Order: sequence, then C-alpha cells, then structure tokens
Amino acid sequence: MKSVDIVGFKSFAEKTHLEFEPGMTAIVGPNGCGKSNVSDAIRWVLGESRARALRGATMEDCIFNGTDSHKPLGMAEVTLTLADCDETLEIGLNEVSITRRVFRTGESDYFINKKACRRKDIQRLFMDTGVGTNSYSVLEQGKIDQILSSRPDDRRAVFEEASGITKYKADKKEALRK
Ligand code: ATP
Ligand code: MG
Repeated sequence: MKSVDIVGFKSFAEKTHLEFEPGMTAIVGPNGCGKSNVSDAIRWVLGESRARALRGATMEDCIFNGTDSHKPLGMAEVTLTLADCDETLEIGLNEVSITRRVFRTGESDYFINKKACRRKDIQRLFMDTGVGTNSYSVLEQGKIDQILSSRPDDRRAVFEEASGITKYKADKKEALRK
C-alpha cells in the first residue's frame, strides 16, 4: 500500500493524503480523532458493501455529515494507491490506484486507474491476494476475535483466501448460477 487519499469520507471533510512507508504502519491519536475511519476508508474503497461493517446504519453514514464549522458534503471519495503490484495483481502494471465515490443518492462509482469499472472488478483484482474486503490485511476492532471464535465457515474463508483458492470458488459459484 503506497498511499490513500480521502475526501468527504466520514470525519475527513478536507482532502487528506496519507503515505505509507514500507513495513508496518501504526495510526495513533486520541479517542474519536478518526483512526478507525482510515481503516473503514480502506475497506470501503476495496468494495465493502455492508454499512454495518463500516460501523454505520446506511452507506450515507460514510459521507461527511457536517460539524459546527463545516457544512455536510454530498459526496465521499477514497483512492487507494498500491505500488509493486506487478507480481501480486494480475494487471501488468506496477502501480495501481482504485477509487470509489458515493453520492447521497446512494450509488457508488468505482475506478481502476481512473477508468470506470464495476465493484466486482475491484473485488476480483484483489481476490486471493490477502488484500480484499473480507481478507486479513485490514484488521478492524473485533476481527481477531472473529477469526478465533467465529463459525467454522468464517474461519475457513480466512484460510481459503490465504491459500489462494477464493477466486476459483467464486468462478465455480458463478458458473453454477448460469
Ligand atoms: P477510538 O480511539 O475511540 O477508537 P478513533 O480514532 O478510531 O477513536 P473514529 O471512530 O475513527 O475514531 O472516528 C470517530 C469520529 O468520526 C467521531 O467523532 C464521529 O463523529 C466522526 N464521524 C463518523 N462518521 C462521520 C460522518 N459521516 N461525518 C462526520 N463525522 C463523522
Ligand atoms: Mg477506533
């Protein structure tokens, strides 16, 4: 992960650019300053569609809804830029950016390297890489508990992603539906 650009997402009313150095990144700050909102933004741009997983009731809760000094915004946009992708992502490019945008009307737009795409394309791009929405690269509060104590099927999904077979299972499911 190289950087993330956030505007209008949750508490980030103003354009915010965060760079990640190689290795591990820790986000520190007082309660309520927006640390979890950064991990929510990353899971959101990767295609998370469950508002509850993003600690909201509806997707609209992801859009900045105003403070005493700032008016609410009509749109949220997050771009995640990844470097050194040519080996892990089957895309033939070394740097890849993915963008998601949502308006108060509800619908999301997705882009890979600024080209419009479907949510599915983003999810597929990251399947079996350990980076996708349901994977283990972003561990929100409670995720460790989930891995340790959830239903066997949920636990199995973690191992399937790690061993690289999620994509084949998704293909099989789609083929059976046709
Ligand atoms: P803690 O240390 O308690 O876990 P945190 O740094 O993880 O705190 P977050 O949960 O990321 O904090 O941020 C919470 C803040 O984000 C709250 O002040 C909340 O009002 C604000 N917030 C969440 N959604 C929105 C929104 N749609 N518009 C404006 N502010 C929002
Ligand atoms: Mg938090």
